[in-house]
Amino acid sequence: MSVRTIPNAQRRSSVVIHHLDCAPMRPLGAPPLVTHCLLVATNSGLVLVDTGLGAADIADPRRLGAMFRHTMRPELDLSRTAVHQIRALGYDPYDVSDIVITHLDLDHAGGLADFPQARVHVTGDEYRSAMRRDTRLEANRYRPAQWAHGVDWIVHDTADATWLGFPASRVLRGPDILLVPLPGHTRGHSAVAVQEPDRWLLHAGDAYFFHGEMDLRRPRCPRTLALHQRLVADDHELRLSGLEHLRELRRTHPRLIRFFSSHDAQEFAQLASRDR
Ligand SMILES: [Zn+2]
Repeated sequence: MSVRTIPNAQRRSSVVIHHLDCAPMRPLGAPPLVTHCLLVATNSGLVLVDTGLGAADIADPRRLGAMFRHTMRPELDLSRTAVHQIRALGYDPYDVSDIVITHLDLDHAGGLADFPQARVHVTGDEYRSAMRRDTRLEANRYRPAQWAHGVDWIVHDTADATWLGFPASRVLRGPDILLVPLPGHTRGHSAVAVQEPDRWLLHAGDAYFFHGEMDLRRPRCPRTLALHQRLVADDHELRLSGLEHLRELRRTHPRLIRFFSSHDAQEFAQLASRDR
């Protein structure tokens, strides 16, 4: 798929993308992390990409489990939740009509309960993994309390589109938003592509944690973060091959795609500064 030429009228249409950190974390021995979510404000409503931690997680951190709290050390601050930040930006959280989820790990799905009216888009593999929690790793990472309120799931099982050669599921149009499966971190992990007038934003989820992993000449990652990623990967080799595909995309489309991951603080700072 190539980027369409955007007519002037559409260029002027009021799509605004905000970058939100909805769960800052300070893991021991590693650089500080963010949890990078997107708020896409269109003429017809609000779309959220990932949700970070939610108000109920802040009120009762035991929902998150001791392992996550002690290793990732999240900042438990209500003002960091997506629902709070959306209100602070002057929007009505009830206008969030759709949420697109890279994966259902607890630091990405915690805010679902703050938007009970929203449709929640997820890949079929991720949905089934989170509902079944077959392995010990999955029992830890997926927290059923975060969707116990009842979620209007939209499960995307088949790729009905392609995105720059990748099989993808189209979630929304205007701007185009697609789920681009990129398994490895979890079974159904997915990147989310969001169209801007002259480029694509690619929210790579937890396909990588550190911007240096996307360096084309000398990919690198702090040792503690590399170890963490290996420990929490559903399939470590699959994650690495997906990452190589991302670097190849960066090589072949250097200006067409702006890549960022969920947890890299430097990428977040660069993109969030455009909001202000
Ligand atoms: Zn994560």
